[in-house]
Amino acid sequence: MDFDEFREFGHASIEFIINYLGNIRERDVLPSVMPHAVINQLPREIPEQPEHWREILNDLESIILPGLTHWQSPYFNAFYPSSTSAGSIIGELLIAGIGVLGFSWICSPACTELEVVVMDWLAKFLKLPEQFLHATEGPGGGVIQGSASEAVLVAVLAAREQAVVKYRELHPELSESEIRGKLIAYSSDQSNSCIEKAGVIAAMPIKLLPAGEDLILRGEALKKAIEEDVQEGRIPVICIATLGTTGTCAYDDIESLATVCEDHNVWLHVDAAYAGGAFALDECADLRRGIDRVDSLNFNLHKFMLVNFDCSAMWLKDANKVVDSFNVDRIYLKHKYEGQSQIPDFRHWQIPLGRRFRALKVWITFRTLGAEGLRAHVRKHISLAEQFEKLVKDDKRFELVAPRALGLVCFRPKGDNEITAQLLQRLMERKKIYMVKAEHAGCLFLRFAVCGMDPKPSDIDYAWSEIETQLTDLLVDQQRLLETPSKAGEVGELTHHFQILANNGNVTHEKSQ
Ligand code: PLP
Repeated sequence: MDFDEFREFGHASIEFIINYLGNIRERDVLPSVMPHAVINQLPREIPEQPEHWREILNDLESIILPGLTHWQSPYFNAFYPSSTSAGSIIGELLIAGIGVLGFSWICSPACTELEVVVMDWLAKFLKLPEQFLHATEGPGGGVIQGSASEAVLVAVLAAREQAVVKYRELHPELSESEIRGKLIAYSSDQSNSCIEKAGVIAAMPIKLLPAGEDLILRGEALKKAIEEDVQEGRIPVICIATLGTTGTCAYDDIESLATVCEDHNVWLHVDAAYAGGAFALDECADLRRGIDRVDSLNFNLHKFMLVNFDCSAMWLKDANKVVDSFNVDRIYLKHKYEGQSQIPDFRHWQIPLGRRFRALKVWITFRTLGAEGLRAHVRKHISLAEQFEKLVKDDKRFELVAPRALGLVCFRPKGDNEITAQLLQRLMERKKIYMVKAEHAGCLFLRFAVCGMDPKPSDIDYAWSEIETQLTDLLVDQQRLLETPSKAGEVGELTHHFQILANNGNVTHEKSQ
């Protein structure tokens, strides 16, 4: 492809993106395809001859798009947001266009130095303690990882290696494998699956401690677990706390956990993958309590900072602990300024060797939105979630399951779990909005997360109207079944629950018409 054709392809692709994002509300958020739909439409081999970009864009439109779930749609209310912005999209394009790798400073000095700059910008924007800044005297600093999972894994592996070194000094009579066999880590049963996975990869058991009824992990539970383990000869290594759990956006009690970790020389990592964005707001200052006492933390820019996936910030109080754990060198990786310039070689801070120039899209996103724009974005999500929360509260057929937290509302129709399950099934079949379910203590509920590239109050009204009319229809259908003598026996006990709910909510046949 020559540059003229490249230009045409590029311009057409930008038009394609604008058209896709500008009209995203017109598409069902969930695709209507069956498994293999895409595979069956594509050849089994690489085309032998080059194809024209126009054909490729046509196939993108006709084969690929129908098979997509539209994450940038405001009707995507599942998981947590993974939103993007114009600046970030252009940033990604430029990253690919420039095509550098930045595993050490010499590989592309600006790649490393821009990352140092944007990580300090972000740390200040989120009001993190100074010890996490590169610019502060001391061993702290921030790095961009691909995902929260990678950040957690880096913390777990570094904490593990530090513990092994320390314990070998204290107990020279023990072999390294004996020490490794005794290591143990902690998190809460509400933490993200990536934490358990980090334990599997690190070959170190992670105990998932029961969070309290309010779904918060506190120092008391950690202290009890550590004391029992020490008594049995185990070596506590790291506790991974969560600010903003995936299920309900609960915030673990960092201060009490920090006290226990300090007493037992245990690394404290905070996974703030979603909620970290709210550190920037004065009205959410409480969230930052205890952050000055943690060893490391992570926050996904691809969740709350309008930087497209993948982009996960990680800060370390003492980066040397990671560098010392991961420093595996070869002569071809060495360079003249290594270790002298106070500028990191980020390959020692991560799992892979190669690294993307993610700092570029962060820089462009931050500059195109400004700190004010970023704060406004987080506030908008909170206010849209408040709007949704009010709609739930005003409809007495529904109940909140946990307090609204940032842009997440956890709710359910009152009554049996089956009603929640059937409501979600209906919503999924209609594909107008996309939510996922969660469960706590046997109670099934729905998570409504404000997501998408540019959600608006009218989108919240749209989603609520879809949810509440589907509940109405569900109740009416059940009522009809009950009134059909031949069917009444089939629905039995369950119908009884629907009937109670329908009566509580004063649902009548008329309401659905
Ligand atoms: N931690 C929390 C609290 C999350 O909610 C998620 C994903 O939603 C993750 C970690 C995993 O994030 P990633 O996909 O960046 O690894």
